[in-house]
Amino acid sequence: MSGNETRSQAIFQITNREPMPVKQTEPLGKIWACDVFNLAKMEEALSKTAYKSMKKTVETGAPLDAGVAEVVAAAMKEWAVAKGAKFFSHIFYPMTNITAEKHDGFIITTSQGNAITEFSGSLLIKGEPDGSSFPNGSIRMTNAARGYTAWDPTSPAYIMHTDNGAVLMIPSVFMSWTGEALDKKIPLLRSNAAMDKAAKKVLSLIGETDIAQLNSSCGAEQEYFLVDANFANARPDLLLAGRSLFGAPAAKGQQFDDHYFGAIPARVQVFMQDLEDQLYRLGIPAKTHHNEVAPAQFEIAPYFEAANVAADHQQLMMTLMKSTAKKHGFICLLHEKPFAGINGSGKHVNWSVGNATQGNLLDPGNTPHDNLSFLLFCGAVIRGVHKFGPLLRAVIATASNDHRLGANEAPPAIMSVYLGDQLEKVYRDIKDGKVSVSQSGGEMDLGLSQILKFKRDPGDRNRTSPFAFTGNRFEFRAVGSSQSVSGPLVAMNTMLADSLNWIADKLEAELGKGLNTGDAVLAVLKELMDKHANVIFGGDGYSSEWHTMAVEERGLKNIPTTADALGALREDSVKELFKSTGVLTPVELESRYEVYAEQYILSIEVEAKLMINMAKTSIYPAAMNYLADLSATSAGMAELGIELDSSVVKTVAVEANAMLAAVARLEAAIKKHDFASPEAHMKFLAKDVRDLMDEVRSHADALEMEVDDALWPLPKYSEMLFIK
Ligand code: ADP
Ligand code: MG
Repeated sequence: MSGNETRSQAIFQITNREPMPVKQTEPLGKIWACDVFNLAKMEEALSKTAYKSMKKTVETGAPLDAGVAEVVAAAMKEWAVAKGAKFFSHIFYPMTNITAEKHDGFIITTSQGNAITEFSGSLLIKGEPDGSSFPNGSIRMTNAARGYTAWDPTSPAYIMHTDNGAVLMIPSVFMSWTGEALDKKIPLLRSNAAMDKAAKKVLSLIGETDIAQLNSSCGAEQEYFLVDANFANARPDLLLAGRSLFGAPAAKGQQFDDHYFGAIPARVQVFMQDLEDQLYRLGIPAKTHHNEVAPAQFEIAPYFEAANVAADHQQLMMTLMKSTAKKHGFICLLHEKPFAGINGSGKHVNWSVGNATQGNLLDPGNTPHDNLSFLLFCGAVIRGVHKFGPLLRAVIATASNDHRLGANEAPPAIMSVYLGDQLEKVYRDIKDGKVSVSQSGGEMDLGLSQILKFKRDPGDRNRTSPFAFTGNRFEFRAVGSSQSVSGPLVAMNTMLADSLNWIADKLEAELGKGLNTGDAVLAVLKELMDKHANVIFGGDGYSSEWHTMAVEERGLKNIPTTADALGALREDSVKELFKSTGVLTPVELESRYEVYAEQYILSIEVEAKLMINMAKTSIYPAAMNYLADLSATSAGMAELGIELDSSVVKTVAVEANAMLAAVARLEAAIKKHDFASPEAHMKFLAKDVRDLMDEVRSHADALEMEVDDALWPLPKYSEMLFIK
């Protein structure tokens, strides 16, 4: 097939496709978590004592006794086999954003040659997937390549149904034989523990006595694109890089905002329903779905859960989004910027911390006492974002998210905090010494004129802020749509732990001077604001005034690319942060730097190679075919004595030549490998190589606007975004 044939075939296939039958869904009560070995299932399957000990582990992370593990393993296997599983797998999350699994059979054979199923506590607890090919940032020498997986009992096991049958999936951590974290789960669990410890200190200093274990929570809003697979299959860039490396803008883009919250196309509704039913079976609480701003863009948001479980569920959800899309004849693009000139996708990470006794500590609450803890915890976040802004930027730094951050649609690459007018004023008043302590109804009161209660009106939101307070939680809006939420959650929990430790020390000192609780809290918050108020910003984060003010007056950093951002992971203050809180050793932190740098380099190189290939083998030939047609026609016309306008020929020839010249320079650029450091290599890719890629693209896109539609080989934006 040549030129438009591929495209017209695709359109024919799409318009003539049999609609996916609408599945009869079963009542939620019947399917909810039916494939999850959760506490309810354990209560049925285990003895009272075994269940009690498991419950304690699940709820508090307390270590599990080996005897109990044995009993749980047997019950888990029984349950899984009854559901048709013949295999089990420890599922884990390497430092790249992927999910990894290695399947093992329950089968063993007896001396009589019979096959039976077996699964012991030790198999449940520990696996040895080797995994020497997972990037480890030089933590493991090849002669010590073994990696181990270990069961995380705080995230429930579940059954994954695939075309190959059912598999029991066991959420696990992944570590080296020397015990170093090689994954994204271990630091998340450690960061939660560090936050818990620090929060307890602060809460007891302000007089709390009954303090349950604290947990961070996460609710992630996931944006994505759906494109028909017939188009995607004709676009190697969408298939291999997840984004279009070429493509002139469609005459209609998103100017009318007519897709946002519009009626969901029927075919997409069927997809969403299928996806959500699978999520419900796996106990993932998908709550909202809607169209997003760009054509063909959608969002799904599950209800928030404990961060560790939410992170596992997020990974599982992304896997299911892709596989379900395939089933429905779509490709699901999780890339941050699949289409130039059209809004990209993010993953807003809603985050709060709380426990069973004090509730959500980022909720202002109903009593003056609640206000005390709220202002301290919220203050701790303000300090954290100010002190560790570059770290927050580093944990969202990927080659793909670079396309989005700082563009006028997504939060800028400057980390600031949005509090809303009312709360910002409270903190400023504290800073200016305008707030004093009073005693009302026997309770300590900060003398604020009313209990802090914030409207949660979406109209009140600041969509231009990377880190926004939204009434009872913070929303980290700059996270990329394809990312694991773990990195951002680790950074947030850890910076919070650090700030709470700082607050605890200061409070202790103030209380030691004989101040009452209210005055001590005010004194600490005042000092905190004196040092960190600069990070609070309620204005337009997209404006150029802010970009100048943030850097020149506020001393904040604007870090546009991953090449500049990752260096934060090597800063002494960041090393100290992770070391002092016990979240990552310096070796573990450095390994993350190396892995992320490598990922960045690889992904830009892959894109550049793909671009060279597509430019040479499909775009240039299309232009030449068109020139051949034109010159044949013009020769024919000349015989009749008619001279055709040659301007199109000239434009096509000039653009095609210019494209080839840029391709040649790009080819030379990616051959360069003699860099002094990964940092220098990244910077070269971020600037020189990306600029050359833009140049190749601009000529190719100009050709798309000139060359006969019938000869153009790649599905166009107008087709991919609008035909479903
Ligand atoms: P919006 O688009 O208005 O920001 P959504 O309803 O799309 O809101 O998503 C908000 C997300 O925040 C959901 O995942 C929700 O469960 C989550 N969320 C709500 N309250 C909390 C909280 N206290 N802590 C963490 N996440 C929360
Ligand atoms: Mg939303």
